Amino acid sequence: MYTNFQEYLKKELAQIEADGLYKNERIIESPQGAEILVKGKKCLNFCANNYLGLGNNPELIAAAKKGMDERGFGMASVRFICGCQDLHKKLEQKIAEFFGTEDTILYAACFDANGGVFEPLLNEQDAIISDALNHASIIDGVRLCKAQRFRYANADMADLEKQLQDAQKCRFRLIVTDGVFSMDGNVCPLDKIYELAQKYNAMVMVDESHSAGVVGKTGRGVTERYNLRGKIEILTGTLGKAFGGAMGGFTTGRKEIIDMLRQRSRPYLFSNSMAPGLVAAGIRMFEMMAETNELQDKLHANTDYFIKQMLAKGFDCKPSESAICAVMLYDAPLSQKFAAKMQEEGIFVTGFYYPVVPKGQARIRVQISAAHEKEHLDKCINAFVKIGKELGVIK
Ligand SMILES: *Cc1c(COP(=O)(O)O)cnc(C)c1O
Repeated sequence: MYTNFQEYLKKELAQIEADGLYKNERIIESPQGAEILVKGKKCLNFCANNYLGLGNNPELIAAAKKGMDERGFGMASVRFICGCQDLHKKLEQKIAEFFGTEDTILYAACFDANGGVFEPLLNEQDAIISDALNHASIIDGVRLCKAQRFRYANADMADLEKQLQDAQKCRFRLIVTDGVFSMDGNVCPLDKIYELAQKYNAMVMVDESHSAGVVGKTGRGVTERYNLRGKIEILTGTLGKAFGGAMGGFTTGRKEIIDMLRQRSRPYLFSNSMAPGLVAAGIRMFEMMAETNELQDKLHANTDYFIKQMLAKGFDCKPSESAICAVMLYDAPLSQKFAAKMQEEGIFVTGFYYPVVPKGQARIRVQISAAHEKEHLDKCINAFVKIGKELGVIK
C-alpha cells in the first residue's frame, strides 16, 4: 500500500529541496535566551519571539513547579465534560484585566483560538473582511466559517473602505487584522480601522500575538497604542511569544462573544485543557506585568538602539513600532548567504524571501528581546557591518 505513496512523497520532498525551500531545524542544547548553545557552541539568538526574555525566567519556572505540585501535571479532559481548575478561571480573568476586556477563553494555542473564533459567531449572511497579510491561523479559521470573505491589501485603508462598502449588504461585518505583521514589524493602523468600522457598522478583531507585551508604552498591545482599550470586540493572543514563550492561546473581548465561544467553539469543546503548571506560570506572568514595566522599557530601548545603529551604519531597515526589525536586502540568494554568514559569526537571524515576502523584497528579520544586553546588540550590529561590507551591501 505504502510503496506508491512513499515514491510520491520522496519526489515531492526532493523537489522542495531542489527549490531551496527545505526547512532544516536548528537543534538547541540550552534553554531559550539571548545566548543559546548549538552544537556545543555559544551563539546569540535574534530569531525567537522571546520579546520580554521570559522564556527562561526563574520566577515563572518556580510558579510552574508550584502549580504542578499543587494542581498536578495534566487535566486529561476537555472543559465542557470535566470542568476546569480555579487556576484556569484566574488566568482568564488576569488576561481580561491586562487587555481591559470583559472576559477571556483559553485555548491550547492561539492557532486554536483563531481556528475556533469565526465559525461559531458568523454564518453565510455575514462578512469577514481580512487583511491580506494576516497569520495562517486566521486564514484557516476563516476557511472553516461560512461567512462571505473579503480581503484588503495590507494596512490599505482605501481598500478596506471599498471592501466594507461591498459588504454592506451582509447582516454582520467583522474586520480582522494582525496587531503586528510578522515580516515588516508594522503595527496595524487600528485608529483608522476603528473609524471605518464605526462608519460602516462593523466589528473589529485584532490578533495580538506579536503585539501583546510589546506594543504600547506598557505593552498592553495595539489597543493601548491607539487609546482603544475596551473598544475592540475581539482580541486573540498567545502565551507562546512575549508572555513566557511556553504555550497557550486565548480569545478575550465582549462577554457574550466569549460566552458563545464556550458553547460552540470546536477547539475549546474538543481539545484538552491547558496544563496546570503552564496556567500557574501564566498567572504569575500577568502579576509581574502589573508590578513593573521594566521589561517593556528595556525592550523598547533595545529596539530603538538597534534600529538607530543599523541605519547609521547604512543599512536599509523598515520602520518598526514592534520588536521586529526587517533589514532589507531585496535579493533572495543574498538574504540566504547573509544569514548563513551571520550564523558563522555566531548570530542567528533569519533570511526571508518569496513566497514568504513579496518578490524582490528579500530581507533579514531580526527580533529584539529584553533579554539582549547592549553587548549582544553590539555584537549583532558589528557582524552585520562586517558581512554587509564583505557582500557589498554597505560601504
Ligand atoms: C504565532 C502566532 C499565532 C500562533 O500562536 P500559537 O499560540 O503559537 O499557536 C497566531 N497568530 C499570530 C499573528 C502569530 O504571530
